Amino acid sequence: MERAATEEPVLVVPLRGVGRELAYRAGPAGGLVEAGSLVRIPLGRRVELGVVVKVGDDGGYEGGELKSLQGLVQPFPVLREEGLELARWMAAYYSCGREQVLEVMIPRAVRQGMAPKRERVLRLGKKPEAEELAALEKRAPQQGRVLAFLAGQLAVDRWPRALLRKRLEVSPAVLDGLVEKGWLREEEDLSERLAYDDELAGAERVSGEAEVRLTEEQAAAARDLEAAVEAAAFTVRLLHGVTGSGKTEVYMRVMERVLRGGGGVIFLVPEVALTPQTVGRLRARFAVLGEKVVVWHSHLSDGQRADAWRALARGESRIVVGARSAVFAPVANLRLIVVDEEHEPAYKQEEVPRYHGRDVAVYRAMLNGAVCLLGSATPSLESLHNVATGKYGILHLRKRVDDRQLPLLHVVDMRREKGGRVFSQLLADKMRDRFERREQTILFLNRRGHDSSLHCPDCGYVAMCDHCDITLTHHLHDKRLRCHMCGDEAAVPRVCPNCRSPKIHYKGSGTQKVEAQAARILPGAKVVRIDADTMRRRHAFREHLSAFRQGKIDVLVGTQMIGKGLDFPNVTLVGLMDADLSLHLPDFRASERSFQLLVQVSGRSGRGDRSGEVVVQSYLPSSPPIQFARQQDFDGFTSDELEHRREFGYPPYRHLLHHLFRGKSVEKVRFYAEQWRKQVEPGLKELGVEIKGPAPCPVERIQDFFRYQLWYFCGKVTPVGDYLSEQRRAFQWDKEVIEILDVDAVNLL
Ligand code: ADP
Ligand code: ZN
Ligand code: ZN
Repeated sequence: MERAATEEPVLVVPLRGVGRELAYRAGPAGGLVEAGSLVRIPLGRRVELGVVVKVGDDGGYEGGELKSLQGLVQPFPVLREEGLELARWMAAYYSCGREQVLEVMIPRAVRQGMAPKRERVLRLGKKPEAEELAALEKRAPQQGRVLAFLAGQLAVDRWPRALLRKRLEVSPAVLDGLVEKGWLREEEDLSERLAYDDELAGAERVSGEAEVRLTEEQAAAARDLEAAVEAAAFTVRLLHGVTGSGKTEVYMRVMERVLRGGGGVIFLVPEVALTPQTVGRLRARFAVLGEKVVVWHSHLSDGQRADAWRALARGESRIVVGARSAVFAPVANLRLIVVDEEHEPAYKQEEVPRYHGRDVAVYRAMLNGAVCLLGSATPSLESLHNVATGKYGILHLRKRVDDRQLPLLHVVDMRREKGGRVFSQLLADKMRDRFERREQTILFLNRRGHDSSLHCPDCGYVAMCDHCDITLTHHLHDKRLRCHMCGDEAAVPRVCPNCRSPKIHYKGSGTQKVEAQAARILPGAKVVRIDADTMRRRHAFREHLSAFRQGKIDVLVGTQMIGKGLDFPNVTLVGLMDADLSLHLPDFRASERSFQLLVQVSGRSGRGDRSGEVVVQSYLPSSPPIQFARQQDFDGFTSDELEHRREFGYPPYRHLLHHLFRGKSVEKVRFYAEQWRKQVEPGLKELGVEIKGPAPCPVERIQDFFRYQLWYFCGKVTPVGDYLSEQRRAFQWDKEVIEILDVDAVNLL
C-alpha cells in the first residue's frame, strides 16, 4: 500500500457535511497515512473526521497552500482498497453520499478511536489428569470445582478473572490458591468483550457439535462449493434446500475448507435474534480448529464492537456472524460470504444508506474474487431470476436429513368454525394431544397485542391512531390502546366514542390473546409468548429459547420473530393462527411473502425423530400461496408468481425505485410530488424508465406526516440513479417536504 510523505497531497472524504472529496497535505503523520486511513481534518473552524481515499493526488486543487491533516484516529487503515471501492459503488447504486456509506462501514467505536481495555485473565497452567482432579476435589473442593470446569471447556481457553469469579461464585483466595499451585496462570491481557460468552452460551451450544455424515445431496453441494472456493474466483451459488435439509451443515463444510486454506468468512443472518443459535453452532464446530467466532450486530456495546472489529482487522479472528451490517466487517483475506435466509426482507436497511445486505454481499464477494453462498428454503424471486439468467449457479437439497418427512399441512377454513374462537377445533385437539405426549407446539401469528382493533358494531367506528392512518391495537396487560406505527397510546374507552354504544368490542386476536387462550385449553402447560413487547428486556429472547430447547416450555407463542431459522427437534406441531394477514398487504410481494411465511413457519415442525404437522387457519383457504404451500409445490408457486410479475414488469424483471415524499401539509406534499414528476419525466422517458404516481402511500399518514409516492421501473439502476441525483440537486425543494429515494425498495407501505 502506498504511503504518503509529509508534503504529499491526499484526497479525503469528510464524514460530515460537504459531500465531496477535499485535498490536504499529509502533514506530520505523513509516513503512516495511506488510502483507507481514518484522519482528523481541519474543516472551516472545526476538526472533523475523514477517510483518505487517495494518496499523491490533489484532485486538481487550485486554492493556494493545502492545509495539513491533524493526525490519525487509528494507527492502521480502517478500510482496505476493496472497502473504498465498495463504498464508491454503494453511493452510486443507492443514490446517496459516500460519507453516509462510510459512516455505516466504520463502527462508531472505531471512529472514536476507542482503545482496547486491559484485564487480568486466567488460563489453565497444565492439564490435570483424572486422578489429580479427583485428589484436588477431595482436598480442596472449591479449587477442584474450578479446575474441573476449566479443564472441561473446549471453546474458551482464557477467562477474565472477574467473569470466572462471578460465574463459579468463588472467592479470590480459591483462584489464588490454584495459581500458587501452578494449575492456573494469571496474566494481563487485552480484554475481549466477546458477545454471548456467558451463562447462556452453554445451552445454545447443544446442537451441531458432533460432525455428521453428509447426505448424498449435502455432499454433492459441498463438493461443488469446495471446488468453487479452490478456484478462487468470484461466483454466486444459490443453495435451495427445503427446511431441515441441513443447509447449515453444508455451510460449515465449505467454511472449514476456507479456514483451512487461510481465508476468512462472513456469515450473515437476517435477524439479531438468530445470531446466538448460529454462533453457538459455529463456535462448537470451529473451536477445534482454534478459531474464534466473532459476533456482529447492532445490539453490541461499543466496546464489544471495537474488539470484534480489531480482532477481524488484525486477522486474529477469521469468522464473523452477524446481521446485515456484518457485511462490512473488516475480515482479512475474505474468501466466502454466506447469506442465510437470503429471501428475508430484513436484509434491507430502511434508513440511509438504504442498501440490501444480500446484494452488497454479492458485490463485495466480486471485489474480492470470493464465493457468495445464498441459502434459503424459499429463495427470493430476485435470486431465482438471477439463476435463470445464468448469473448465479444453483444447488438443491430436496430432502430432509435422515429421510424425515416434511410436515403434513392441514388448512382449516375458519369460515366454517364457530365464531369468535381463537383456535379451530382441529388445532385445539392437536395441541391437547401434543401436550399429553410431552411434545412441543409453536403458535405463530403476525400481530402483537391482545386483540387487533376496537370496533363498534352499531356505528362502524374503529379506534384509529390520531397521527397515523392505522388502527390502534389493544394491549391486555396494561389495558391500553397502542399505535404500532408511532407508539402513541390511549386508554380503552368503555363506550363507543362516536355513538356511546356499550357494545364496542375487539376484533381479531393478537399474541396476548392466543397466549391466554392456549393456557386455558391446556391446564398445567407452560405457555410463553415471544414478541416485540416481551423482548424489551435484554436477553429475554435467548432465555426463552434456551428454556424452550430444554423442554421447560410446552407452547411458544410468537410473531414472525420465531418463524425463522430456529431448529427445535421436539416441536411436532405448528399453528399458523391467521395465514391471511400478509395476503391483504397492498404490496406486489404479498403473495411471495405469504408463501414464504407458510413454508418457513411449517419448517419449524418435525425436525427431530418424530414427524411434524402444521395447522393453517385461514379465511381464504383457496388462495394460491396457501394451496401451493399445502402441496409443497415451490416450483408451481414460483412459475405462477413470476408470470404475474413479468406481465406487469415488476421485479425481478425490472428494478423498482421507490420515491417517497412526506410532510405535514398534504397539499404541499402532493404539489411538490407532481412538480417533481413534471421535471424528471422527459429525462426518465429517455432512459426507458416507466413512472407511476404520484399517489398516496397505502398508509397515507404516519406520525402526522402525509406520504405520497412515485415508482420508477427500470432495467439498469445506476444511470437512472445518476440522473435522479442530478435532478434532486437542481430541483427547488420546499423545506417542509422531505423526499426519500429507495433503490430496490422492499417496504412499500
Ligand atoms: P436447515 O438449515 O436446512 O433448515 P439445519 O442445517 O438446521 O437445516 O439441519 C437440521 C438438523 O439436522 C440439525 O439439527 C442438524 O444438526 C441436522 N443434520 C444436518 N445434516 C445432517 C446429517 N447429514 N445427518 C444427520 N443430521 C444432520
Ligand atoms: Zn359506535
Ligand atoms: Zn400512530
